[in-house]
Amino acid sequence: MAYDSNNIFAKILRGEIPCKKVYEDDHVLAFHDINPQAPIHVLVIPKGAYVSWDDFSAKASADEIAGFVRAAGKIARDLGVDRKGYRVLANTGADGGQEVPHFHLHIFAGRPLGRMVQKP
Ligand code: AMP
Repeated sequence: MAYDSNNIFAKILRGEIPCKKVYEDDHVLAFHDINPQAPIHVLVIPKGAYVSWDDFSAKASADEIAGFVRAAGKIARDLGVDRKGYRVLANTGADGGQEVPHFHLHIFAGRPLGRMVQKP
């Protein structure tokens, strides 16, 4: 799947749409989800143009991957959720339920999150 530079997160990265920013560095932007599914629901996105986890894990540079993983862990610690725990999730593709075609990691926290995925 080719990257669509008009997706909503690309517009956020270009500053065309506002976001409630949590963190930013050379490789990463993180912001609050507009429709939170937990008391804390933050999205972490790379600044590079990657469609999905699949695309990012295959094509991103070692610096981008390390920067992304380090940033996601730091964001969780900065949010103060590392002590009680949290969940990270990367919906990928159609069966994964991915809606926005720019790779993003969800961080959910602030209540017990239950086990794994919902049954159909
Ligand atoms: P996914 O289903 O993994 O692609 O998740 C996309 C997420 O993006 C959903 O949780 C949406 O609520 C969130 N979202 C969509 N538009 C925005 C926006 N403008 N700002 C923040 N979060 C958004």
